[in-house]
Amino acid sequence: MHPIYLDHHATTPLDPNVLEAMLPYFTQKFGNAASRTHVYGSDAEEGVEWGRSQVAFLIHAQARDIIFSSGATESDNIAIKGVAEFYQEKGNHIITTRTEHRAVLDTCHSLEKRGYLVTYLPVDPTGLVDPEEVRKAITSKTILITIMFANHEIGTLHDIPAIGKIAKETGVFFHCDATQGVGKEPLDVEAMGIDLLSMSAHKLYGPKGIGALYVRRKNPRVRLTPIIHGGGHERSIRSGTLNVPAIVGFGKASEIAQAEMDTDRQRLRCLRSVLQGRILTRLDGVRLNGHPGLRLAGNLNLSFSDIKGEALLTNLREDLAISSGSACTSAVPEPSYVLKAIGVPLELIHATIRIGLGRFNTHEEIEWAGDRIVDAVQHLRSKSLPRGPRHQTQPARCDSPSGRNCGPRMRD
Ligand SMILES: *Cc1c(COP(=O)(O)O)cnc(C)c1O
Repeated sequence: MHPIYLDHHATTPLDPNVLEAMLPYFTQKFGNAASRTHVYGSDAEEGVEWGRSQVAFLIHAQARDIIFSSGATESDNIAIKGVAEFYQEKGNHIITTRTEHRAVLDTCHSLEKRGYLVTYLPVDPTGLVDPEEVRKAITSKTILITIMFANHEIGTLHDIPAIGKIAKETGVFFHCDATQGVGKEPLDVEAMGIDLLSMSAHKLYGPKGIGALYVRRKNPRVRLTPIIHGGGHERSIRSGTLNVPAIVGFGKASEIAQAEMDTDRQRLRCLRSVLQGRILTRLDGVRLNGHPGLRLAGNLNLSFSDIKGEALLTNLREDLAISSGSACTSAVPEPSYVLKAIGVPLELIHATIRIGLGRFNTHEEIEWAGDRIVDAVQHLRSKSLPRGPRHQTQPARCDSPSGRNCGPRMRD
């Protein structure tokens, strides 16, 4: 049996309805969307423009302001490097936070090597950046603020409208990596004062390898120096033959996300509270990382005291597909910089799990996962501590909704 998939911040399964929408574009409608001279080209172009309008609608943008890319990593690079280079005469200062995704942080680091100045703002213990700190960091040389919508580890939702307002008042461009929030939380580039926005289809039940960058064309107009040159596709900001099936899939995923956002979000919030309740009522020494209320519905990030390093993940590996508080990028696990930034002690970081619930998880799966985590923690604590059974558990009790109150999963 496969483990239960609870790692939806890493990627999501393709929605079957998305696959169905994509299929004709691999075979019958296989044309190059730039081919103007025949119906194969215009069929493909129609698919692309339909996808563009669906993606735009999801963030309240104009379709013509959407640039397709290979994903959020590329979008972040195009946005940050593109603004930095185009406006280098105007200034060389960029403001971001310490808890951004690597795609933003590493792009900023690369610009620092080229002489740009970057301010990495701290966040509070819940993961929030203070918008007033953003305002205070702005100088006459500031050309860009880049702050994410929702954190990929702890799920914290920044006060984007407040940051957008400050950006407008001070005349600085605002880029938002909204990859974790798009399709999950309401997003409106107008109301939120966002000038550039990055996203990836595979985080919202669409295909991998396709993403988009929203680039505001009016009030104010944002200009970018491209990092990829070629045939002039996508307003010359991102040349290269368009991945038509993936764009159609991205559009379909956006259409579904828009239609199902409220029910999906409520259901995920309910499932999370079931899981959280099941774990917290039976264990002590558990730390909830991130903001208690301002967080992604499907995110639960927990640290367990009195557990050795990666033992928990190893114990759960066969049954639950979840992520840890440390990344195995090298032989030695690197403790998460996000958890460090919110002040989680090092020994707890290694005993941290990131759970990302998704659209196709069932109530039964969540209850089972909760029990499995409790069992694993109790087992490891009794093993690692000579003091004997110290964590007296309370009788299994769940304050949160039980039974099937969270509603049926989609496509059932
Ligand atoms: C996943 C993710 C990215 C990178 O997306 P790719 O599809 O890997 O390019 C960037 N930012 C955030 C916040 C993410 O969650």
